Amino acid sequence: MKILNSKFLPLVKSLHREFLRAGSDVMQAFTFYASDDKLINRGNQAGRLFTGIDINEAACKIAREVADEGDALVAGGISQTPSYLSGKGKESVQAEFRKQVQVLTKNKVDFFICEYFEHIEEMEWAVEVCKETDLPVAATMCIGTEGDLHNKSVGECAVRMAIAGADVVGLNCHFDPFKMLEAIAMMKAALSAAGLKPYLMSQPLAFHTPDTGKQGFIDLPEFPFALEPRVCTRWEMQRYAREAYDLGVQYIGGCCGFESYHIRAVSEELAKERRKQPESSKKHDPWGESLKMHTKPWVRARARRSYWENLNPATGRPYSSAFSKPDNWGVTAGSEELKQKAESTTAEELQKVFACNSKLKWISCSF
Ligand SMILES: [Zn+2]
Repeated sequence: MKILNSKFLPLVKSLHREFLRAGSDVMQAFTFYASDDKLINRGNQAGRLFTGIDINEAACKIAREVADEGDALVAGGISQTPSYLSGKGKESVQAEFRKQVQVLTKNKVDFFICEYFEHIEEMEWAVEVCKETDLPVAATMCIGTEGDLHNKSVGECAVRMAIAGADVVGLNCHFDPFKMLEAIAMMKAALSAAGLKPYLMSQPLAFHTPDTGKQGFIDLPEFPFALEPRVCTRWEMQRYAREAYDLGVQYIGGCCGFESYHIRAVSEELAKERRKQPESSKKHDPWGESLKMHTKPWVRARARRSYWENLNPATGRPYSSAFSKPDNWGVTAGSEELKQKAESTTAEELQKVFACNSKLKWISCSF
């Protein structure tokens, strides 16, 4: 297979390996957004060079090879589709999912993750297709406390995911660890009221998003190329891991912005509960105690958990504000502007969105 002969292959494997050494129990095959319709969407070159089958198959093989270097499982993911956003209906959307699920099954993933869904209806369709196999299904939506993009509450979404057959239910992406846990607490309450007990799962951003609205970080003016000032520290990840565990979340992970050292922090915080330390912690201590050997005495004074746990880090930007104003254009599935296409946006179309952006009056803009 052409992809497996790529000169970049060792780099992709080493990315998986970093996370394995940081304590990940699951190698998530790089199949995010790798449905055929997404791959050819908006001129994506991958969709022209390879088929969805090629990409999904290669991703499974790479993930399995690295998982077997430790004792990790392999998960294959499917995600929301342009076909749904374009209003193509259940049959064509499920046909997209089915193509991916067949490749993932053939390549013996241990379980599925239906991740990054903004609409509970599409999520139910995805879980339904995964349940055509015998494999366990985890289901995570990229929504927060305000619910999905068709105004279904986060609690209702949790209940519907469980009823659809998901064995693990939760959230991924779009919100920071602590905002996500607020929404998961709401899911937990709704599930318990409905007498349902799936496992809970969280895969938040590694970016602070206290100022986000319904669509999470996508609406932030800094998305996607200026988010760095918002990155969580490793100490904040330790706090996230503990709070998630205390809430009853058993599958604790991360999404955009997570580096392997963030996952290592999660693993270290829960080392006692997991009865193991990650491989990469062998030359490292979880709370900065190695600073006892530092040359400068004021740095040696930081060699303790309480220092890092209580630190409020500065941004280093004298004029930066704590919060931004989310764009919040309010466009979702069913809107003409979200109809997906393979061609790049034209200069004329771009002028229209630039004009809307500067007026900040999307609703009144006519396309
Ligand atoms: Zn993400």
